Amino acid sequence: MNNFVELENEYLLHTYKRIPIMIDHGEGVYLYDTEGNKYLDFLAGIAVMALGYSHPKIVEAIREQAEKFTHLSNLYYMEPQIKLAEKIISYFGKDGKLFFANSGSEANEGAIKIARKYFSNKGLNKYKVIGFDNSFHGRTIATLAATWQKKYQKDYLPLLPDFKCAKFNDIDSVKELIDNETAAIIIESIQGEGGIKIADEKFLKELRNICDEYDIILIVDEIQSGMGRSGKFFAYEYAKIMPDVVTLAKAIGGGLPLSLFIVSPKLADTFSYGDHGSTFGGNPVAASCAIATLEVIEKEKLLHKNIENGKYMLAELNILKNRYRDKIREIRGKGLMIGIELFSPCSDMVGEFRNNGLLLNCTHTNVVRILPPYIIEKEHMDKFLNVFEDILKN
Ligand code: PMP
Repeated sequence: MNNFVELENEYLLHTYKRIPIMIDHGEGVYLYDTEGNKYLDFLAGIAVMALGYSHPKIVEAIREQAEKFTHLSNLYYMEPQIKLAEKIISYFGKDGKLFFANSGSEANEGAIKIARKYFSNKGLNKYKVIGFDNSFHGRTIATLAATWQKKYQKDYLPLLPDFKCAKFNDIDSVKELIDNETAAIIIESIQGEGGIKIADEKFLKELRNICDEYDIILIVDEIQSGMGRSGKFFAYEYAKIMPDVVTLAKAIGGGLPLSLFIVSPKLADTFSYGDHGSTFGGNPVAASCAIATLEVIEKEKLLHKNIENGKYMLAELNILKNRYRDKIREIRGKGLMIGIELFSPCSDMVGEFRNNGLLLNCTHTNVVRILPPYIIEKEHMDKFLNVFEDILKN
């Protein structure tokens, strides 16, 4: 292990503050390190590993597709992409169309591009984008401009112009920023990196109305909250709204890099041949894993399970909140996307969890974030709750 730490320090840019363990392998909801320690993973690769590790259906999908081809240029038709697109659009529930990319940031870049192109095609001078405080949409230059957290932006100034920041859940702050040149509003229906903050259903409805009134494209970033984590396939469904563009990444590829953005019929003809593209976007192995993931989610009714498990976790966590009022400030969440806001920073607590065989992380300084795989059972939740209470007691 020490040898690897030295080598990593020598050869990799120091962008990740690594936790001092080296993972050897994973199985189901557990990760095992090279020292033989076993960890219950309540972070799931930051909302990626919906089915946990080494799921037999994922392993099979990888092998079957790898035996055919692992990559094909997007110059050719390929079955996994088409089958997956059909499935995703059925969840979107309208005659939408989608574009495949590789990462969350890329999906959001594409979403912003298509919103601008939509108006450019009409000969309209609409290009401005409104985002929200505490949001996170990625680290590329455009998505950074939409990511309203100073710590991510401060060293990369000047940001792209024409991105503005409204207050999350405050419709008046949005109205103040809208002008004739506003092209798009981008929002996470549940802010992830911003500390698991949920957009009010009323607020999302109001945003939808404003976008209709002023001809603005509503982009909903479901990269962390989507793929059923919240209990609905897309978390915006709770508000009964239809976005114009939706972005999806993380869990979609079953652990392989894959992302996409979906557009409503209104934008379906915005791009023509050559307007957008990606060498790797929609990789056939990743797309096969995505199909396998969705099949398991459907067969095992994991969305329903996420709702039930989420209810159990929130109820138990609220009991702990009442018991430890001096430590826990607020519990927020939907399904298996849960944040426990403490009165003090939580990085030390994350270390204590790890010492007790549990992996999770701390976001927005004082929010313990839980994003477990969808396959967790009651025994896993109880293990987490017991460890948490032991830590709170001390
Ligand atoms: N949007 C949201 C809501 C995210 O949580 C993230 C990643 N944390 C991104 C975009 C960026 O995704 P990626 O790291 O795959 O580029």
